[in-house]
Amino acid sequence: MTSLSTPYEIIIVGARVAGAGLALQTARAGLRTLVIDRDPPGRDTLSTHAMMRGGVMILNRWGLLSRIEELDTPAIRQTTFHYGEASFPVFIKERGGVDALYSPRRYVLDRILAEAAADAGAEVLHRTRFEDVLRDGRGRVCGIRMTGPDGVSHSVSGSLVVGADGIDSRVAAACGSGILHQGRNRSGVIFSYWKNIPLDGTHWFYGPQSAAGAIPTNGGCCVFTSFRPERLEGIKPSALPRLFQEVLSEVNPDFAAYLRHGSLDGGYIKFGGRSGFMRQISGPGWALVGDAACFKDPITAHGMTDALRDASELARAVVRGTPQAWQEWESGHERFARAFVDLSDRIAAYRMPLPELQAAHKDLSRLMNEECDYIERGEAGSFAEQPALAMAVND
Ligand SMILES: Cc1cc2nc3c(=O)[nH]c(=O)nc-3n(C[C@H](O)[C@H](O)[C@H](O)COP(=O)(O)OP(=O)(O)OC[C@H]3O[C@@H](n4cnc5c(N)ncnc54)[C@H](O)[C@@H]3O)c2cc1C
Repeated sequence: MTSLSTPYEIIIVGARVAGAGLALQTARAGLRTLVIDRDPPGRDTLSTHAMMRGGVMILNRWGLLSRIEELDTPAIRQTTFHYGEASFPVFIKERGGVDALYSPRRYVLDRILAEAAADAGAEVLHRTRFEDVLRDGRGRVCGIRMTGPDGVSHSVSGSLVVGADGIDSRVAAACGSGILHQGRNRSGVIFSYWKNIPLDGTHWFYGPQSAAGAIPTNGGCCVFTSFRPERLEGIKPSALPRLFQEVLSEVNPDFAAYLRHGSLDGGYIKFGGRSGFMRQISGPGWALVGDAACFKDPITAHGMTDALRDASELARAVVRGTPQAWQEWESGHERFARAFVDLSDRIAAYRMPLPELQAAHKDLSRLMNEECDYIERGEAGSFAEQPALAMAVND
């Protein structure tokens, strides 16, 4: 095993929205930052693409929206909610420097974030797997063991290790982070990509027992259906198109008919569902961010926005390096993550009559407005203070 001599100020495992977003901020603030990911750069991942205003505001603050636009990500200026036969269009107003929403493919977004982190001075290593944490004599996490593409193990020391390694976080397991809060419901999802179906923005379709959506993204449109996960039980891959069409027809027959004019681009992708949860997010020498910290059922399409907001706030705490900054990050996380987990969980029961569902969406909208206020008030992305080692405060 080789031991690298460089001590990093922050080591991040996972180089997608949470991890690369955090690395971009800490590197810009001048902290020696290492971010690793087992995947090659630009690999797609299991996710649809709707990003809420808070997420777009953060990408704008980080100076990345123009790059997202350059790569032909459509600007979305209207979102329409359909409950049964009733439709409610919402026009995107200017707020926080943002007058449109964007839903980039993940191989576009995650790559832009990782490249921006590298440009800012972070060391970004793909095809590199986290194996375990290192601990000092007091049991405090002080680095990681990782395996590079050549199969060679390295021990790397760092003042703070952050798990941004997704829902099944190995960093969380290695640090002994437990589940503090658990949802009960979960959505089964089937999604696919379509060309030649012009849309006037994003469309969300809701029935009492299932939902669907059409999200304009790079090169076409992502269409998903979402329902109780039992419907996927025993379904072979060859039967996914039929179940997808069946759900779409029950939620909105007009859109199901419209989609038949389009051309399918690729196959059908399924997600069997996972209940939402919140993990303990920090301990001596370590922290978690993104899905590693908290997973929300995708029915509210808030995972990326939550990951970007939380990464932005964690970066601020790390750079400010005071106990107060650390506490502010933890309380902001607790406030929003818990509310989004619980609301997503309620909706993912697929039991609400449509008026009740509409009321739940109004709660969601209020929460997202509060989130935008919180992001607008925050200083993340513009670090006035001297970089300091926040890790000491978390001993
Ligand atoms: C079906 C579905 C649809 C969704 N739709 C939406 C949506 O429309 N809008 C939205 O906002 N959110 C959506 N989400 C949620 C969203 O995908 C996640 O919230 C988001 O990807 C979390 O980002 P992250 O950076 O925390 O983790 P991830 O994107 O999971 O990235 C974790 C990274 O860690 C790496 N990693 C893991 N283990 C290791 C290891 N041992 N060593 C090195 N690297 C490792 C992985 O390779 C991966 O690249 C959806 C999720 C699902 C399942």
